[in-house]
Amino acid sequence: TTIQMQCHLPIPQPPAPHPLTSRHVAVIGAGAAGLVTAIELRREGHSVVVFERGDQVGGTWVYTPKIESDPIGFDPARSKIHSSLYKSLRTNLPRECMGFRCYPFVAKDDPDRDPRRYPGHQEVLWYLQDFTREFRIDELVRFETEVVRVRLVEEEEEKWKIKSKQRSGKDETEIFDAVVICNGHYTEPRVAQIAGINEWPGKQMHSHNYRVPEPFRDQVVVLIGSSASAVDISRDIAGVAKEVHVAARSVEDEKSGDQSGYDNMWLHPMIESVHKDGTVFFQDGSFVHADIILHCTGYKYHFPFLETNGIVNVDDNRVGPLYKHVFPPALAPCLSFVGLPWKVVPFPMFELQSKWIAGVLSNRFALPTQEKMMEDVEAFYSSLEASGMPKRYTHNMGSSQFEYNNWLAAQCGCPAIEDWRVQMYNTSSKNRRAQPESYRDDWEDHHLVLQACEDFMKYTT
Ligand code: FAD
Repeated sequence: TTIQMQCHLPIPQPPAPHPLTSRHVAVIGAGAAGLVTAIELRREGHSVVVFERGDQVGGTWVYTPKIESDPIGFDPARSKIHSSLYKSLRTNLPRECMGFRCYPFVAKDDPDRDPRRYPGHQEVLWYLQDFTREFRIDELVRFETEVVRVRLVEEEEEKWKIKSKQRSGKDETEIFDAVVICNGHYTEPRVAQIAGINEWPGKQMHSHNYRVPEPFRDQVVVLIGSSASAVDISRDIAGVAKEVHVAARSVEDEKSGDQSGYDNMWLHPMIESVHKDGTVFFQDGSFVHADIILHCTGYKYHFPFLETNGIVNVDDNRVGPLYKHVFPPALAPCLSFVGLPWKVVPFPMFELQSKWIAGVLSNRFALPTQEKMMEDVEAFYSSLEASGMPKRYTHNMGSSQFEYNNWLAAQCGCPAIEDWRVQMYNTSSKNRRAQPESYRDDWEDHHLVLQACEDFMKYTT
């Protein structure tokens, strides 16, 4: 099917607070977030340079069998790999729901492509490559160019100095009016603290470096975590390992014990301690002798290039202070972040965040004053604290994501998130929890697929 995109959702034109302006904007990263940010900025009339340290677009979706030199990720001087994908990965969202609103992620009429609703990772990379070609984004990207420093220009307020380094070793420093950070947040491992770990003789690895199950053959594995990847990886490994013991914080809701369908996998509460003789004790007093601990414990936000004199910080995995997870009030609108929220449908959210940023930078949309933005941030942090939410959950959205998306859509004068998309997300999440092995191939929301396809007709000719 040939799809001709008309990427213009109707955008009303509220009175501009200042004359419309075009700015010279740097985007850091050419993953899904950086790509859509580039087109939203260009569409708004800005001039755009996308810096990408890799040699192609796609970020996380560029699979590599390579792993880092330190598999647990403690050594700051280790060789770095960007993507955390494992070979067997299929999406955990249905494609209709996952794709950009302006470029539906529909199956291609091509025998080499993967037509499944929850396709393998290669299909997502192909989709992002198609998107890049369709909107001619390549011409904006400087590949193999890593941003190594971002700081305000001292003499000239509201200008940013970006130092970049090409793979050839050549450095360059340039001045931009604004910077949008789209560097992803699934690369820097977060590891569980475990009592006695320095004495424990076994191996440790973070899921960032998990690719294939083979190295786990005949091993006794303790896997920490209960996220979507933990669920996939534990099942991948159970096919070859001697035993898989899953230690999860959320085990209270479920029952410890055998995992249905497997005779070599058990669920436990968190690890209590580990010991010199190789034993791993769980909080309920049970223990195993394990060969390897695999941490599927998530990632840290990491902006090694960003110098803001302490205005923006990462504290217990909260990036802040940020107005609506995007703008640091004291540096708005010239510094912004796309893609920080997690437990979300990422691509449509990136699209709305970047539309908002592009319109604010051109003066088409106005931000509240710095004081008002700070008040909003403080009120948000207080509400998290009052509900007992740890700081590290600041950007965890889950059920509030659609309200957030609709807030962004309203700022930009775009239609709210489609009903079918919300329902499809909710239905697929429920199905995933109920049947983690089969949810990708066994689903019943055909009526939502039909609604999605009808909606996509608006974008196809
Ligand atoms: P990334 O894709 O990580 O891209 C960031 C880019 O920035 C990279 O290309 C990187 O090279 C570049 N970069 C970083 N630092 C610099 C620098 N200093 N200078 C220049 N370039 C730099 N999402 C879904 O929608 N569906 C799924 O099924 C799904 N499954 C996932 C499974 C796993 C295992 C993981 C880790 C994530 C999954 N996600 C999924 C979320 C996924 O991260 C998003 O879909 C999306 O790829 C994030 O895009 P991004 O552009 O924010 O970051």
